[in-house]
Amino acid sequence: MNWRSGAAAWLEAALSLVFPPQCPGCGSEVSGRSAWCTRCLNEFWQPRSLDTAQRGMPHVDECRALTGYDGAVRKLLHGLKFERRRGDAAPLAWLVAMADEAELAGLHLAGGVAVPVPLSALRREERGYNQVELIFAAWCREQGMQWEGNALLRRRDTAPQWELDRKRRQENINGAFYCNAPQKIRHRHILLVDDIVTTGATLEQCALALHQAGAASVRALCLAHD
Ligand SMILES: [Zn+2]
Repeated sequence: MNWRSGAAAWLEAALSLVFPPQCPGCGSEVSGRSAWCTRCLNEFWQPRSLDTAQRGMPHVDECRALTGYDGAVRKLLHGLKFERRRGDAAPLAWLVAMADEAELAGLHLAGGVAVPVPLSALRREERGYNQVELIFAAWCREQGMQWEGNALLRRRDTAPQWELDRKRRQENINGAFYCNAPQKIRHRHILLVDDIVTTGATLEQCALALHQAGAASVRALCLAHD
């Protein structure tokens, strides 16, 4: 431990005495910063494997989501996306790190390439970050994946999907993505990551662009399912 991390650990310990870490769900005292209490974790933890055939996602080989989209998870994601509350990413990243081997089985993590669903250039500039990167990048690297935050780009500024009905969502998103760096994608196993999966139309369009760039497989992992 160098003096910097020593000082950081000391500061963390001192802060914990004055401001004990609180569960982002219910405010009860927890053991570490960004950690959730067991009761809230049990409530929000709803891992699910989505039926990609039924959802019309032929280019997505596998699709998992870890939590429901309500209560504190919804509030934190909203803060992160619409109120520039960058710090709201930490408790969500903590949730991703809770996924166990069984829940991640078959996703081809180690040695694969992680690609986030991109924002449009305009929205990224407004927000200052891609929230998906804040939630997933560090964890993906810990799993032995290569993080490629700019391999996939959004061609145009699409309307927010939640404003539209199902048919409009499809039209809105068709052809919206392209691969910017096919040499990083070709023959690789890709893990596409996103914050929420609703209809799956966005993931399917991203996966299509990745397959067109020569991906060996495209699997998806989302924080929440709506
Ligand atoms: Zn709690």
